[in-house]
Amino acid sequence: MHEIIVNLHMHTTYSDGHASHAQIADAAIRCGLDAVIITDHNVWVNGPERYYENNGKRVLLLVGEEIHDQAREPQKNHLLVIGVERELAPLAPDPQRLIEGVRQNNGLAFLAHPHDPAASAVNQDDLSWVDWQVQGFTGIELWNGLSEFKSLLKSKLHAVYYAFTPDQVALGPFPQVLKKWDELLEQGKRVVAIGGSDAHALPGTLGPLRRTIFPYDFHFKAINTHILLESPLRGDYREDRRLLLEALAIGRAFVGYDLPAPTRGFRFSAQGKDGTVWMGEEISAQNGVTLQVRLPGKAECRLLRNGKTIKTWENRQTYVYITTEPGIYRVEAYIQYLGKQRGWIFSNPIYVVK
Ligand SMILES: [Zn+2]
Ligand SMILES: [Zn+2]
Repeated sequence: MHEIIVNLHMHTTYSDGHASHAQIADAAIRCGLDAVIITDHNVWVNGPERYYENNGKRVLLLVGEEIHDQAREPQKNHLLVIGVERELAPLAPDPQRLIEGVRQNNGLAFLAHPHDPAASAVNQDDLSWVDWQVQGFTGIELWNGLSEFKSLLKSKLHAVYYAFTPDQVALGPFPQVLKKWDELLEQGKRVVAIGGSDAHALPGTLGPLRRTIFPYDFHFKAINTHILLESPLRGDYREDRRLLLEALAIGRAFVGYDLPAPTRGFRFSAQGKDGTVWMGEEISAQNGVTLQVRLPGKAECRLLRNGKTIKTWENRQTYVYITTEPGIYRVEAYIQYLGKQRGWIFSNPIYVVK
């Protein structure tokens, strides 16, 4: 498998972000990303999707969209649409219709920042997902960098503090979102988890203090979605786009918080009588299944089955677990950073079936 690091969910000057597509591509190249996915609010920008190069390095830039009903009161239900090459924002008033439109256009639909508390000190509303009866979406944004920042802003002073110390912010996906994800999986839905930065590079001011809140460069070293491809990226944008979207559609991917330590190299696989499968795939429990976890460094690691921790281990980088029990197996790893235990790696599930 060929691992690529993708930062997704971000805004340019076409909506409320503060950089162009080309500037974002430069930042992504500086940070060593393989791909970025731009998702401006309610506008599909046709044209900038391609490879960008700088200093002999390149990055694949894809253009998606973040769609919501701008007439809804209160504002809720942001949907990340990836891989659709047309404007679907007019479908926003009915989230189910919108999701169906995405599928008809061979795209992927992710519920953005499912839990997104208000931050009244800085006039930010709660933009959670509320229409949970929807069906047929690809997945959810398990960890959103901006929602977590918002959740800490009890006052304007908190905003200034965290704007100057962004590396103090991230602790992990909200427990509510992890719980919701496990519930959806238990219902038999295949729900792909992604991590999004929601990068805007907003300018912040308080009296004489001025600061870009979370520059793109910061986000690109923080919460990323790591995708495992069947073959390496070759530099042909149409073909590489197809490879990336195919793997993302099934969830052959994990969410990695790369700031404390790089998460590149994490693997979660299963071996059974019919061979090896990876995250997002299913395997028969018959004759037993060997789950294998490999961490890129030492951390506290948990193996979960149907949302419950069945094993925890520390101080080892590889772990093997043999089972004959069908279930939804996934992995979480936690790491010490700046005096706190923080979420580091969240795998997509392997589905062990009868
Ligand atoms: Zn949003
Ligand atoms: Zn956004």
